[in-house]
Amino acid sequence: MAFEKLLSPVRIFELDDEIGKRIEGDGSVKNRSALLEHLQDLGVRMHPATNTLEITDTHVRAENLMTHQEELYEADLVVQALDYRPEKDLEDIFRGCAEKVIAIGDCTGIGNIIGATTDAWEAVWNLT
Ligand SMILES: Cc1cc2nc3c(=O)[nH]c(=O)nc-3n(C[C@H](O)[C@H](O)[C@H](O)COP(=O)(O)OP(=O)(O)OC[C@H]3O[C@@H](n4cnc5c(N)ncnc54)[C@H](O)[C@@H]3O)c2cc1C
Repeated sequence: MAFEKLLSPVRIFELDDEIGKRIEGDGSVKNRSALLEHLQDLGVRMHPATNTLEITDTHVRAENLMTHQEELYEADLVVQALDYRPEKDLEDIFRGCAEKVIAIGDCTGIGNIIGATTDAWEAVWNLT
């Protein structure tokens, strides 16, 4: 049984039409291709353009967005590494609580530490 589990493939399901597209967007093209090559060597199955619809105790049910067909994959362990989005309404809720409300960092759009600290620095600089 344990041996069978070892043989069951690891799969990556990605809603986008390419795996790791955003890594490329970062300018890290070499990192992306090296990573994809390594995953391929390890036998990881890639499922781009796939929308996961349901995770049960035994399966992942997904829609292939190219064929619009539903697919069912056996799975004994599922790791979710999903997107996140800013909750932009929060800014409106805080508006009016103080004379000046400045939204910075990830709440204005998902970014990184440099963007967040730059926003913070600019906000403080322009306080007066
Ligand atoms: C898994 C992961 C890995 C990352 N790796 C990197 C990396 O390697 N390099 C990089 O540059 N960036 C990375 N980032 C992005 C980086 O963490 C964020 O861009 C940065 O932390 C944004 O800073 P922020 O202050 O805007 O938001 P956050 O750091 O998210 O801080 C917001 C804070 O507000 C608190 N909060 C939320 N709602 C309320 C509320 N109602 N009342 C009070 N407090 C509240 C939260 O608990 C949180 O502590 C990563 C992000 C993730 C999720």
